[in-house]
Amino acid sequence: MAASPFPAYVSTRGSSPDVDFVGALLAGVAPDGGLYVPALWPDLRETPAPSGGAAGMANAILAPFIGDALEAGAVGRAAARLKDQFFHPETTPLVELEPDLFVLELFHGPTAAFKDYAMQMVAVLAKAALAGLGERLLLVTATSGDTGAAAVRAFGGMDRIDLVVLHPLGRVSPVQRLQMTTTGAANVLNLAVRGDFDDCQRLVKGLLAHRALTAGRRVSSVNSINWARLAGQIPYYIGAAGALGSAASKATYVVPTGNFGDAFAGWAARRMGLPMGGLVAATNENDALVRALETGFYERAHAVPTTSVSMDVQAPSNFERLVFEASGRDSALTRGLFEDFARHGRMTLPAELLAALRREVSAVSVSEAETAEEIARTYGETGRVICPHTAVALHAARRLDRSAGPVVALSTAHPAKFPEAVEAALGFVPERPPQLDGLEGRTEVFETVDPTLAAVLAAIG
Ligand SMILES: *Cc1c(COP(=O)(O)O)cnc(C)c1O
Repeated sequence: MAASPFPAYVSTRGSSPDVDFVGALLAGVAPDGGLYVPALWPDLRETPAPSGGAAGMANAILAPFIGDALEAGAVGRAAARLKDQFFHPETTPLVELEPDLFVLELFHGPTAAFKDYAMQMVAVLAKAALAGLGERLLLVTATSGDTGAAAVRAFGGMDRIDLVVLHPLGRVSPVQRLQMTTTGAANVLNLAVRGDFDDCQRLVKGLLAHRALTAGRRVSSVNSINWARLAGQIPYYIGAAGALGSAASKATYVVPTGNFGDAFAGWAARRMGLPMGGLVAATNENDALVRALETGFYERAHAVPTTSVSMDVQAPSNFERLVFEASGRDSALTRGLFEDFARHGRMTLPAELLAALRREVSAVSVSEAETAEEIARTYGETGRVICPHTAVALHAARRLDRSAGPVVALSTAHPAKFPEAVEAALGFVPERPPQLDGLEGRTEVFETVDPTLAAVLAAIG
């Protein structure tokens, strides 16, 4: 029998071989269709006290997830990007808006959205993994805007990696499109698909399963189904707790949620031993998760477009990881439920599992009107301009009882990425941060394709 990798990752569906961190990073999804989770959760009490600010902390938190799967030094180089590539000395500052109401600013990275934080590190880790193997990797990703921008910026110009990004033609904001199409990176192919985001996701699935494309080459995706993306989001929760000091053990984190990746990273931080008062997933009007926790019935609906576009998700992919954990790691149950869901677009959560899920996390939905009201209220009371995703979290945060402990709303994008929504709420366009300056002057490179696998394959060549 082959020795088990350490630290090992197991599939939520229980019928894939265990892999190490590199295996999970380069595969994305497990061969049985499940998602990778650590076989054993690292214990924060056994993590050496970090030094060296945000980068030192990320290094200390991530090292036990990686072990010796990568050469010594790779994690440190990855974490150093939280200093080199970020535009704020604290990387993710915690700002108090009123007594016991905080926002955790996660948008000071190169594309001004929270996805930079993990993506910047994952790019360095992937490059190190491929160098160790002597291989190349083709990454394909569908985006409604932020993931693509963060991926292009993190992987652009990176050795051993080719990146293909599919966005729906005319349906991402101009700022988001320019961030993807103007980097000039030779290893990035931007495809504008004549269709919607669901078409892009369907095409990516088709590419990942295409035999001729995947024969003899590694093909993966950088969406938050990839374990490395999630692991990379755990450190900022621990940093926020450090900034809160003694009140941290009672803090509730409110996370603007689409695919439940960011919220699952918060769950993981608690599972590793970070004390907290609560974890709340705040969705926009795409509220499948909220209804599942209310009724036990989880159903794929049609995604409705909202101003918090990066959360317009109809079936949050990381819900599977939460179900696996809340069921006591019952992979047979998890497999049954999610295979059913894939086939029929719905599932019924057994009563015991539903009760367990409700103990782990709560979920609330915020309407479009409430989102706009929150942008206006926060500006009126504090002079701060927030993005619609942050507004969803902050509105949900205000509904909580703060006498139980501080409430932290995660702030996931700079408002200047969503000028239309901010202008509609406030009557003016937000000022741009330096990392969004000068985009309009640059040459755009992208190809427009029909929403067919044949057209996308031809473009990839
Ligand atoms: C991706 C994204 C989210 C949602 O994060 P998930 O991990 O998919 O739940 C929220 N806000 C912004 C700005 C995003 O880009």
